[in-house]
Amino acid sequence: MKVLDLQCPMGHRFEGWFSSENDFAQQLNRGLLECPFCASKDIHKCLSAPRLNLGAHKPAESPSQSPAVQAGDAMPSTLHGGSDAIQALQRAWLEIAKAVVRNTTDVGEHFADEARKMHYGEKPVAAIRGQASAEQVHALWDEGVEVLPLPIPDGLKNDLH
Ligand SMILES: [Zn+2]
Repeated sequence: MKVLDLQCPMGHRFEGWFSSENDFAQQLNRGLLECPFCASKDIHKCLSAPRLNLGAHKPAESPSQSPAVQAGDAMPSTLHGGSDAIQALQRAWLEIAKAVVRNTTDVGEHFADEARKMHYGEKPVAAIRGQASAEQVHALWDEGVEVLPLPIPDGLKNDLH
C-alpha cells in the first residue's frame, strides 16, 4: 500500500492510497482521481510534504518544483521510506477511515438525497456515507447541509467487518 500526498490546482491537499505507483498512474490517466474538496481532476503528487517529512534528512523541496509532476516520477524517499513516523501516520489514518466506515451507514448514490432529508427533518439524523459529486456537495453546502468530503481508501469502502 502506498500513500501519496496529492494536490489540486486550488491547493487542496489530500492523501491517496494506491497499491503501487503504477496504480496511481493508471487511476490518474483514467480520470478516476479527483480532489475530494473541489473535484478537480487535475491532480498531481506533492513533492514537498511537510506533514510526512518527519525526521527527514532531506532539505525541504521548493514548492516551485512541484506544479506538474509526471505520474511515474520517483517519489522522494522520505514519503515511502518506511520510517516509524510515516507508518504511525498511515496506521492512524487507516484507523480513522475504518472508524468512519464502521460508524456510518453506506447509502451509496442516495447520499445527497438522504443528507438533505435529514437536514430538513424528513428523516431522523444518522451518520451516513456515500458518493456525491462535487456539484451535489456544493449544492448541499449552499443549503447549509453539513457534509464532509473524505477520501476513504478504496479497500475499505466495502469492508463491513
Ligand atoms: Zn481541490
